[in-house]
Amino acid sequence: MGLHITEQQQLEQLYHTIKNTTQRFLGYPVSKDFDYSELMPFLQFPLNNLGDPFSESTYQVDSRTMEREVVNFFAKLFRAHEDQIWGYVTNGGSEGNLYGLYVARELYPKGMVYFSEATHYSIQKNVALLNIDYVIIKSLPNGEVDYNDLKKTIGFNRHRPAIVVANIGTTMTEAKDNTKKIKSILENMAIKKHYIHADAALAGGFAPFVTPRPKFDFEDGIDSISISGHKFIGSPMPSGVVIVKKDNRDRIARRIAYIGSSDATITGSRNGHTPLFLWYAIKKIGLEGFKKRTEHSLAVASYTENKLNGLGIDAWRNPNAITIVFPAPSKKVINKWQLATEKRQSHIICMPNVPYTQIDEFIADIESEMCVV
Ligand SMILES: *Cc1c(COP(=O)(O)O)cnc(C)c1O
Repeated sequence: MGLHITEQQQLEQLYHTIKNTTQRFLGYPVSKDFDYSELMPFLQFPLNNLGDPFSESTYQVDSRTMEREVVNFFAKLFRAHEDQIWGYVTNGGSEGNLYGLYVARELYPKGMVYFSEATHYSIQKNVALLNIDYVIIKSLPNGEVDYNDLKKTIGFNRHRPAIVVANIGTTMTEAKDNTKKIKSILENMAIKKHYIHADAALAGGFAPFVTPRPKFDFEDGIDSISISGHKFIGSPMPSGVVIVKKDNRDRIARRIAYIGSSDATITGSRNGHTPLFLWYAIKKIGLEGFKKRTEHSLAVASYTENKLNGLGIDAWRNPNAITIVFPAPSKKVINKWQLATEKRQSHIICMPNVPYTQIDEFIADIESEMCVV
């Protein structure tokens, strides 16, 4: 039995709407320049990477071999040795944040979580889910954590283990917290029980290719990191990667085994297609491709910032950021280009798929409104 004619029309309608809305998309960190058509035959199989990708499963309709490669690829980019880490492909950055904080809480059940006011809402939700105490730290005007306020606040709670969430690219201004600096604050205060989780949803995809390299990875003091797969890399469905230190994972796994479950991941059944898509993307893009995408995004970002400044608009961006922040334009422009807007500030994110011509078109829209006034 096929679809009813009205249902078929509904499908077509949806297809056209999506095709149209995906055209002008400057405000969200989602790459669209992908082609996964070679993987279409895999959509006929019920792939499921049930549980831990690093242990054997009797469910073999899976892509766990590829998933392990994806995890190890990012571990290397984040300067960790593959023997010392564990991870898996998640549903997105938020799940990776939940997992990182979960590991931290299992290690330090009496820990206090610190994160800045510019932090993504998934962190607040996750600390609520995990029922951990937290304190919100001030941000600097650029969106980076206020290190002095962080130090002072940790000082009030010296008797408790410290769990710090570092933003590697905040949602609004793409500010990157310096994890090396955070680590030294914790060490200088002699807080031995500490944990740093990096929320690198967008910027984790290109930070390793930026010079000077931001301080954000395992060599810079982190204990876990979460990135999104559908942001800088781009994929038809949301995905992400979480990487934690193997020692920490093994310690909590033993505790979990003790209470009668050896389940290591947040969900039991897991998407088996997304690891395959990510594997395919990193193989096709390659390290050179990642570098090129990064350079393109940075060049377009610089171009956009200059163009806006040229119109007398107070646009700015953080060092080596692909996000440009500027006073919110008219509702019409915000809607047309789907610009995320908060506290009367909008931003454009120059994802690898954004061409100069699209920026020119956007600038022309802004300019024509200025003429009307
Ligand atoms: C997008 C984003 C997230 C959430 O990632 P999802 O993949 O949407 O779950 C978390 N933190 C930051 C900073 C983000 O930009």
